[in-house]
Amino acid sequence: VRVRPLTCTETRRGDQQVVHSLGHGTVHVTAPRQDATFGFSAVFDAGASQEAVFEGSGMRHLVELAIDGFSCTVFAFGQTGSGKTYTLMGPLTQSKTQPVALGLMQRSFACLLEQSRSHGSDLALSASYLEIYNEQVRDLLSPGPPCTLPLRWSKTRGFYVENQLSVDFESLEAITSLLLEAGSQRRQTSAHALNRHSSRSHALLTIHVHSRAVSMHPAPRGGLWGPSACSSKQGTLCFVDLAGSERVKETGSSGELSVEANNINRSLLALGHCISLLAKSRGKQTHIPYRDSKLTRLLARSLGGSGITLMVACISPSSRCLSETLSTLHYASRARRVTTRP
Ligand code: ADP
Ligand code: MG
Repeated sequence: VRVRPLTCTETRRGDQQVVHSLGHGTVHVTAPRQDATFGFSAVFDAGASQEAVFEGSGMRHLVELAIDGFSCTVFAFGQTGSGKTYTLMGPLTQSKTQPVALGLMQRSFACLLEQSRSHGSDLALSASYLEIYNEQVRDLLSPGPPCTLPLRWSKTRGFYVENQLSVDFESLEAITSLLLEAGSQRRQTSAHALNRHSSRSHALLTIHVHSRAVSMHPAPRGGLWGPSACSSKQGTLCFVDLAGSERVKETGSSGELSVEANNINRSLLALGHCISLLAKSRGKQTHIPYRDSKLTRLLARSLGGSGITLMVACISPSSRCLSETLSTLHYASRARRVTTRP
């Protein structure tokens, strides 16, 4: 769980701070009727740096697991304006002179590229970038106007997106400019009352990590030692920036914006439903309705399958956000009970 600082507007308005980290992974919420305390693997309060979040969330370990061939996913979820994009990417208008503000993504890329350099040519990295906007899957890397891609299912691959582009990269500059170009210029954002650069779509950036490990085994019948087993591993590291949950009346959305909001809320509800069922089932055979939304189909493996998933719940400390904050914390507590089988 990450609690962001009060914004200038919230401070000026005189909002009360109702969320406090108590240390040891607990967070306390002061509510008019009943206070509540929640426990998580880690809680980062307003003073936590981007580096502290990277180091304390297990992100570095996730990068190593992706290199080892696992499917790893990082989610940021929470109300609009709670700090999801900040946590994943850092401030959108950052300059090169502000490396301290870099988010989980850039720090993970740096980590991956460092490993890639030490592995030599045995580690190849490529990226694909999708958004789900109004229940349509779009490729953010393909040039030209946004094109919708079909989401299919096969026995061997599970749910997958057909014809999505994937781009090789070998440097931090290459992947960063890819992200900035695709994300800030092509991804759907609209300004509304809660956040000036609010993301109106769910964005999924997948880094494919292909490693070819050559192990040395003795050749049969006393021959020379040589590379005989060549195992190839294909891991992924997926970053999911969910569009924020919001109540339509609070954001002053109408017309097209309220259609967007309803689609966002519906898919987040489907995600919440799958998480609740997964948390309850614990190994029992239960039908999980992944097909209820594109989002849950694309995340099926990360949620309940063979993936390893880190969920970062972002919340605002302000008294005005109390009910959304509580619902995010309940959501996160359920998510915490889900087990996957990597
Ligand atoms: P979301 O993506 O959840 O809608 P943002 O990440 O865009 O929210 O954050 C909303 C605003 O709050 C942005 O101006 C962002 O820079 C600021 N913010 C969020 N988290 C932090 C933080 N931990 N420290 C400083 N500023 C933050
Ligand atoms: Mg955002």
